Amino acid sequence: MPIVIYDYTKCTGLAECAEVCPVDILEKSGNGRWCKPVDGEVENKDVLDKYYGEVDSKGESDLVLRFDMPSCIECMTCVAVCTEEAIEIES
Ligand code: SF4
Ligand code: SF4
Repeated sequence: MPIVIYDYTKCTGLAECAEVCPVDILEKSGNGRWCKPVDGEVENKDVLDKYYGEVDSKGESDLVLRFDMPSCIECMTCVAVCTEEAIEIES
C-alpha cells in the first residue's frame, strides 16, 4: 500500500505536488493554505479526520500525517517538485 506522507511543519501549500500528480490524487486545501490528498482516495479515514481536525483550518501545524493511498503509482513526481521536502512516499 503506497503511503503519502505530508509534513505540515514544512508544507507551504503552493500545490506544485498536486499539479504534477499524474493520477490527480492530491489537491489544495479549501482555504489554500495546505496541500492534501483527495478525500475519496484516502483509505485510513482516521488520519483524514485528524487532518481536518488539527491542520485544515489552522495556519500552522506540527503534524506529519501518513495517508494510505492505494491509487498512488509511486512515480515520485510530487517528491521531485517539492522544494520544501514536505512530501514523501513509502511503499
Ligand atoms: S509541493 Fe511540497 S510544499 Fe508545495 S504544496 Fe506540495 S508538499 Fe506542500
Ligand atoms: S508518487 Fe506520483 S502518483 Fe503518488 S501521489 Fe506522488 S505524484 Fe501522485
